[in-house]
Amino acid sequence: MRHVTDSVPPQAYMILRAAAGILDGDGGREFVTDPWWALDEHGKIIALGRGPVEGFDEVMTRDLGRSVVLPGMVNAHSHAFQRSIRGRTHRRGAHDPSSFWSWRTQMYEAANGLTPSRLYDVTKACFQEMLRAGITCVGEFHYVHHDADGSPYDDANLLSKQIIAAADEVGIRLVLLEVLYLAAGFGAPPLEEQRRFCDRDVDGFLARCEGLLPHRSEALSVGLAPHSVRAVPVHALEAVARFAADHQLVVHAHISEQVAENQACADAHGISPVALVERAGLLQRPGTFTAVHAIHIDDADRARLRGHQVCACPTTEADLGDGTLMGSALQAAGVQLALGSDSNSVIDLITEARSLELHERLATQQRLCLAREQQPISMTLLDAATTGGARSLGVPHLGRLAVDAPFDAAVIAREHPLLRDVADADLLDALMLSGTSAPVHTVFINGVECA
Ligand SMILES: [Zn+2]
Repeated sequence: MRHVTDSVPPQAYMILRAAAGILDGDGGREFVTDPWWALDEHGKIIALGRGPVEGFDEVMTRDLGRSVVLPGMVNAHSHAFQRSIRGRTHRRGAHDPSSFWSWRTQMYEAANGLTPSRLYDVTKACFQEMLRAGITCVGEFHYVHHDADGSPYDDANLLSKQIIAAADEVGIRLVLLEVLYLAAGFGAPPLEEQRRFCDRDVDGFLARCEGLLPHRSEALSVGLAPHSVRAVPVHALEAVARFAADHQLVVHAHISEQVAENQACADAHGISPVALVERAGLLQRPGTFTAVHAIHIDDADRARLRGHQVCACPTTEADLGDGTLMGSALQAAGVQLALGSDSNSVIDLITEARSLELHERLATQQRLCLAREQQPISMTLLDAATTGGARSLGVPHLGRLAVDAPFDAAVIAREHPLLRDVADADLLDALMLSGTSAPVHTVFINGVECA
């Protein structure tokens, strides 16, 4: 088997080869032994195949030896600063952290203690951990915008620029999902502790976003993120939909993470949160909307989301007691699955992928819930951790080891105790259904080793 571009490829700058890995070709995605990728001087894949490398003379070859090469993983939903409360929310105390809402009180305390430099530091540490776990692109759902008393900094985008600077320093690709937050609930003004999340109004928010668009680059994209239907009134959702369409931006929102949100939405509007975003025009452009969580939704909501994405965050959802997302029902409805580390209590997209499957097994007392015809379940889970996230973030050229894609890759040690003595044919299943990202030993972005 050999996949090359139709024309004779330009002279390769480097050939990378390994014991096993992923090849994305016209015939789909394959997990093969003895793969190779030919890169140009910018780290873009210009040809790939398996077995002996032919057609490239006097090329620098890098043999990754007993390694397994996966596409760099794409983390579609993160709040980096929440890593700072890791391990601090599991004891009964003043806030009795026994529900999502009491956990949120502790999270708000952390958010309100952030200074620009502290935000930069905690974000940098979080992104470094992601990169080491094989994540090469992150969608940061960024909602702490203003000073602690709610007043804008002299540069209204100062804190967003701290996120950009942290990603740049670490060398991870960033999709900055700029969050709109206007209310504490349907018709309720913001709480004291939510003031620094809130823009004056939707026009002020969109003006801020406009100021961020010129910063976009090969490594930085921008998307819009109305926080939730609780936090953003319908007229503002409509304005976001128009701006996103005008500027070809993806839109993300927390949807139906909690039953209480559904009830409040029904009380205020008589419909579900998914139906409300549909009414606001956010589902009109195919593939551009991502509902984060979408746990407590029904068949009608799933049908509305057809052609769009749901971002599951299983370790966070388990941590917070949110409920179990039924990935198989979403698949059956034609909704693409993506994955996020969300609260960053755990940073490991292999664990997220496996949890997506295993949570549904526990809920249904069945196995192989996400299995699709003629495809191993491990491939479905890898897709969610790679191409699913890339599509969700509006960067579909990422998360793939294909001709014309940048060589962004997570390299896994074949001899790690997790995989030792596993047959080649079982490697991907062993990694995705029994493993973690611990065996990731090298990470490439644009063909350059960066972790
Ligand atoms: Zn979130």
